[in-house]
Amino acid sequence: MTDDLLFAPGVTFIEVRCWECSHTVMMKPNEVPEGITAHQFEKRAVCECGTGWPQITKYPKKKPTSM
Ligand SMILES: [Zn+2]
Repeated sequence: MTDDLLFAPGVTFIEVRCWECSHTVMMKPNEVPEGITAHQFEKRAVCECGTGWPQITKYPKKKPTSM
């Protein structure tokens, strides 16, 4: 089982979008329990519509190129 951290190093914020109603929120690392995995978050997250399943997009999507 992979340890899929919600906020892996380098991820500055995430966008959580509801599959059902498209309600979208931004979340920063200090807004979630430290060390929480994406899987744990998905199980806990409840959209205001009550039926949605969260789709998580992590930002930045690409690692910055070093100069
Ligand atoms: Zn929803």
